[in-house]
Amino acid sequence: MTTQDVIKMFDQYVIANYGRLPKVIAKGSGSYIYDLDGNKILDMFPGWAVSGIGHCHPKVVKAIQKQAAELMHMDNTFYTVQQGQLAKLLSERAFGGKSFFCNSGAEANEAAMKLARIHTAKEKYKYITALGGFHGRTFATVTATAQPKKHEGFQPMLPGFIYVPFNDIDALKQAFTDEVAAVMIEPIQGEGGINVATNEYMQTIRELCDANGAVMILDEVQTGMGRTGKWFGYQHYDIEPDIISLAKALGGGAAIGAIMAKSEIASSLVPGTHASTFGGNCIACAAAVATIEAIEEEKLLDNANKMGDYAADKLNKLKAKHSIIDHVRGKGLMLGIQLKIGGAEIVSKCLESGLRINCTQDTVLRFMPAMTVAASEIDNAVDILDSVLKI
Ligand SMILES: *Cc1c(COP(=O)(O)O)cnc(C)c1O
Repeated sequence: MTTQDVIKMFDQYVIANYGRLPKVIAKGSGSYIYDLDGNKILDMFPGWAVSGIGHCHPKVVKAIQKQAAELMHMDNTFYTVQQGQLAKLLSERAFGGKSFFCNSGAEANEAAMKLARIHTAKEKYKYITALGGFHGRTFATVTATAQPKKHEGFQPMLPGFIYVPFNDIDALKQAFTDEVAAVMIEPIQGEGGINVATNEYMQTIRELCDANGAVMILDEVQTGMGRTGKWFGYQHYDIEPDIISLAKALGGGAAIGAIMAKSEIASSLVPGTHASTFGGNCIACAAAVATIEAIEEEKLLDNANKMGDYAADKLNKLKAKHSIIDHVRGKGLMLGIQLKIGGAEIVSKCLESGLRINCTQDTVLRFMPAMTVAASEIDNAVDILDSVLKI
């Protein structure tokens, strides 16, 4: 099959809800992807942060192959080894919480929001979320996503959502009422343009939730699993959340989502209140266990820190050369390059030159390489970006 054949097949049979780049990707390995024509592309945005430890990490591949031959799926009528192991590994790396497993980020946030409701007093049904945040595309999570563009055509949205400007402490205080069940924000807004929450903001959310009997949910779907240089984004702050949601990099490329909640809150999710048929299936859990082991064996948190600093430094040097770069922001390997102009064309030109990056919110280039990235790969990426910006 040729690239044209595949694109033709999509035109005829696949719903066109994505704006796709005209390449068919057939293979991935580490920081590289390969198209059907054999072109090698340096991937500085692997799988939209799903392939957090690179494409087809050998340890994850092996774990999936082994698990697939033993038991692919077992419903939650029974116990399975892999799901228990994964929950233990996550708990030990966060705040000693308990996990529920699902299959995506949106589902994880749905679970977090439902748990907050069922755990808090009956009159509490409202959620506070931040403008520019992103929480998914299901009805509740897209309502939680305070971006008017993403609501277009779907109004009326679900009731009970209050939107506040990100990092605005006064607005948060004003928005709080007895009816608030939870505050849900990302420690670093990803799709919203790599906006980092301040410590003071996080502490205020914690205090207000405690004072009002509300639940603090952190959406760590993008910040979780080490990309920022710590296992979870909240670990950069002097607080502990009540619930975190995870997905994207959790399975090293396999589809899995999760929430982790403090035990006293988790206990509200009794049989009959919530479920997921595929949630916690053996293959996804085995892949996630292998991912966590790989991150530790290969010291990838350290590498995310080191390579994050290295990349930020190189990108800041680019800024000195190209006046269209306003500034660089982020933590670890979650970096955003704020441009003074639109970035779509830069992304296309980089791809033509063999580099894959992303642009979000029109003017922010997202630079989020795999945690396994080497300095030489960052060098190559920055060189390509440099030459594209020159034109
Ligand atoms: C990607 C993302 C989601 C949605 O995850 P899906 O797996 O696409 O449902 C939710 N929250 C954040 C912060 C994300 O980055």
